Amino acid sequence: MLNRTGRVLTRFGAELIIEDETGRRLRCTARRRLQDVVCGDHVTWTPSDSGNHVVTGIEPRRNLLERVDPRGQRRAVAANIDQVVLIIARQPPPQWPLVDRYLVAIEALEARAVIVMNKVDLEEAAPGSDDTGQMESLYRDLGYPMLHTSAATGAGLGELRARLAGLTSILLGQSGVGKSSLIKALLPDEDLRIGALSEGTGEGRHTTTAATLYHLPDGGDLIDSPGVRDFTPPPLQAEALAHGFVEFRPHLGQCRFHNCVHDREPGCAIKAAVDAGEISEPRYKSYLALKRS
Ligand code: GDP
Ligand code: ZN
Repeated sequence: MLNRTGRVLTRFGAELIIEDETGRRLRCTARRRLQDVVCGDHVTWTPSDSGNHVVTGIEPRRNLLERVDPRGQRRAVAANIDQVVLIIARQPPPQWPLVDRYLVAIEALEARAVIVMNKVDLEEAAPGSDDTGQMESLYRDLGYPMLHTSAATGAGLGELRARLAGLTSILLGQSGVGKSSLIKALLPDEDLRIGALSEGTGEGRHTTTAATLYHLPDGGDLIDSPGVRDFTPPPLQAEALAHGFVEFRPHLGQCRFHNCVHDREPGCAIKAAVDAGEISEPRYKSYLALKRS
């Protein structure tokens, strides 16, 4: 039996749209035991003359991005994400603890993080009186690239496109920051965006909320999941959580108690680093809030 390879572009119910090595798009079904196949998966599949192509295997995943649905269930969003683009904006003003929550999830995926401040055409909510500039340099110092864009004027989009080239990325961020506007700017041709998938398959049903992988005109792939662009990442255990705060790492393992969770324990190396100004207060507060939630 001839086994071919491909990548899952989207899934709706039991049906998958995959792209083969030549860029051709095909409708497939997955074997029963492969029910957890998701957008972004690299798969093997078997062609069939009757058109009932079957996905027969999932290649080992680099990572799996999950969310928690409103009922508290973990749900897969997409697999094999190289980079998460975290969108924040001048307005609504950034919720920095939420930024930390996303960053920790991105670190757990071992994916790259890029922070994008959108709507730079707008004035800051209260110029001079807020801490945006300070927070931006805090994240830059931690090693997170910080871009400035305006979906309205096109400012900074060239730099964003360059960041996306050659990688599989996904955009996240709270509601109203401009995610759909940025996606429209990055994938301007909506007919191409939705039509190309439907064309080869005679299907359009998936166009609602399913995560879908698109090729960007300037290179790179973008996974968009309209239903969950502002999703909540699953909670992490204290150890993984602390590891997700990159500046904690050099201090981990140096607390008095080996099972220290860096909260109220005496002899905590993380708290000592906060007191010494090596770890910033807002980041430590975010850690505590996430740990206690
Ligand atoms: P989403 O909820 O993150 O997908 O945000 P949307 O893309 O729907 O944008 C929310 C609102 O912000 C809309 O009214 C957009 O027109 C507006 N918006 C998005 N990007 C920009 C921008 O760069 N500048 C300005 N001034 N408005 C923007
Ligand atoms: Zn500690």
